[in-house]
Amino acid sequence: MPRALASVQRIRAIAPIPDADAIEVATVRGWKVVVKKNEFAVGDLAVYVEIDAFLPEEPAYEFLRKSSFKTLPSGRGGFRLRTAKLRGQVSQGLLLPLDVLPAPDHAHEGDDVTDALGIVLYEPPMPVSDDAKGPFPSFVPKTDEERIQNLPDVFEAARPTEPLYVTEKLDGSSFTAYLRDGAFGVCSRNLELLDTPTSAFWKAARILGMEDKLRATGRNLAVQGELVGPGTQSNPYKMDVASVYFFSAVDLDTYTYLPFDEMRALFGTLGLPMVPLLDEAFVLPETMEAMLAYADGPSALRGETAREGVVVRSYDRSVSFKAISNRFLLKQG
Ligand code: AMP
Ligand code: MN
Repeated sequence: MPRALASVQRIRAIAPIPDADAIEVATVRGWKVVVKKNEFAVGDLAVYVEIDAFLPEEPAYEFLRKSSFKTLPSGRGGFRLRTAKLRGQVSQGLLLPLDVLPAPDHAHEGDDVTDALGIVLYEPPMPVSDDAKGPFPSFVPKTDEERIQNLPDVFEAARPTEPLYVTEKLDGSSFTAYLRDGAFGVCSRNLELLDTPTSAFWKAARILGMEDKLRATGRNLAVQGELVGPGTQSNPYKMDVASVYFFSAVDLDTYTYLPFDEMRALFGTLGLPMVPLLDEAFVLPETMEAMLAYADGPSALRGETAREGVVVRSYDRSVSFKAISNRFLLKQG
């Protein structure tokens, strides 16, 4: 799913922030963004840049230097947008006037202006370098989830009527293992990985007995989960050995996800842990705010660790989104 990190959006609301004279809070899609007072008005079109966007070193963004300057592994400098709290108000992303665009007069609501502004996704460098065998295989869907803030209609016109379930969103690295026509492979989020003794992904695959388990099914299958543990990210769940908690299974002959019950049965049969299941009959809250409050909470893997958030899906998977805990985002260093 290509993610529009920067797009033209209409401002839905603007509200004052208690005890703040110079700033106010704008609502864009389902996001709250702190802006300078009187810079924008309700109904205006503006460029909204999402959190995790990496903006180029341009004069227009120099005001971000103190809070947001980062250097990518490639050596390229720029500004990384992240969640902030100003005067008690959570602020996510950046709202810019249309005149940052090369052709502001031609801007339409919804336009993806990510490339036009030279913006890329900020991906935290992986502490473990796994050698690439090649690109991510085209016969497996990549793991990703849309942010709830980009789906504000879910609380209005597009309220899902399908039954929903909730799993904990784990803070690790995306892991895929597949077996296809006898070939077994292990992948990270964007790459197929070389089998080396030091690869964190292959180590986890060996600990789980992944290859034998997939072969035992006699099917062309991919299983996808989150790799957590020592040597992956910051090991937030303080685990002694690496493990993978699974959240998807894909039939590679039909390029379709296994329905939830089949997926759960498969993981059960193979002895593969599933991501913590928090609610099997989830009732979607009335508002975005309530959904985000629900995302806050302790991790089921370790009670002292704040969870990253939750993933909500319908059993037929027509609905699938992530709600990241703002408490978690604000704590991130
Ligand atoms: P993000 O980590 O913000 O890029 O969100 C998408 C990623 O969350 C997916 O690519 C998965 O690697 C990861 N993830 C962690 N826990 C879950 C879960 N319970 N369900 C689905 N995806 C998950
Ligand atoms: Mn992640």
